Amino acid sequence: MDVPPPLPGDAVAVARRKFECPACGGEAQWNPAKHALICPYCGTESPAELQERDGTTVIVEHDLVAALRAIPDSARGWQAEKVSVQCQSCHAISVFDPGKISQACQFCGSTALVPYEQVKDAIRPESLLPMKVAEPQARDLIRTWYGKQWLAPNGFAGKAMTDTVKGIYLPYWTFDAKVYARWTAESGEYYYTGSGKNRRRQVRWSPASGELSHFFDDDLVCASTGVHGALLKKIEPFPTTDSLVPYDAGYLSGWTVERYQLDLITSAQRSRAQMDAALRKMCADQIPGDTYRNLVVNSTYSGQTFKHILVPVWLLSYVYSGKSFQVVINGVTGTAAGERPWSWIKITLLILLAITIFILLKANE
Ligand SMILES: [Zn+2]
Ligand SMILES: [Zn+2]
Repeated sequence: MDVPPPLPGDAVAVARRKFECPACGGEAQWNPAKHALICPYCGTESPAELQERDGTTVIVEHDLVAALRAIPDSARGWQAEKVSVQCQSCHAISVFDPGKISQACQFCGSTALVPYEQVKDAIRPESLLPMKVAEPQARDLIRTWYGKQWLAPNGFAGKAMTDTVKGIYLPYWTFDAKVYARWTAESGEYYYTGSGKNRRRQVRWSPASGELSHFFDDDLVCASTGVHGALLKKIEPFPTTDSLVPYDAGYLSGWTVERYQLDLITSAQRSRAQMDAALRKMCADQIPGDTYRNLVVNSTYSGQTFKHILVPVWLLSYVYSGKSFQVVINGVTGTAAGERPWSWIKITLLILLAITIFILLKANE
């Protein structure tokens, strides 16, 4: 018995009902193509579906959306006076102490900063990792990093040294979940037929099944748009399992904070995808034999919780030949990673030198 597709008229009627965006409080609109309620103000997409109830079509939100909306206003805000601005170039939102607002974006250097208007305050971080690396140490780490960069254009050193390093707290979401999974698959065992040249590997398939329970603890999803994603991957991990301290506005006093832009719903879906992939791998590891096929995993998630946390970095962003580069240091472990320009003149000269040496060596043979 298939449920007949909703009549267009019904869907339109339902779409006129008001759905509050869980992230900003604006009025979200039903987008049938995306099966989501989309907020025209902040762009948050809240997954939802059309269901038949007592003969009418209604929009039913994903339980995650309802959970997000249920977060009380008391769990929002910084508990200290802050000013937020958004960069018109890289879109990062920076949160400053009043009177300490930077004139240029600390992530890309653009001066096109506009006040960031929000209907609802940001969800307050539950905990954070305090900055451990002091500024002089951060400068040393950047100098060491620079020392390893060969074939950089002249002037790059000066640029990378003189620009100011900024201490910034970046936003992450972490997710916990208990999961129980049952799996079925076909397990394959190799055997060989024939001999010599005609020896062939064959697979004998037999059904297999199993189950497992797992607790995902602090599955991390980065919510920063300011620091380039690939760079951040290089300075992870942050020691979130043992060094987090409860949020206190005092820790952030004097530092810039980046407000999350990857909202909770998108992050939770990303985390679920990460967990699903990890779970599939765990089930695959349980399958006996040499190989497998047709793995089907049936999982039930429970006890899902999330936290918003902040982690510290030192960031140096500089513009070279009109292009924006970043060098970033993990504020706890001191791991450094950076982007840099290449000097094509130096590279070309080096290649010419190599060719010359090769020719000279050949001539002397
Ligand atoms: Zn919104
Ligand atoms: Zn920017």
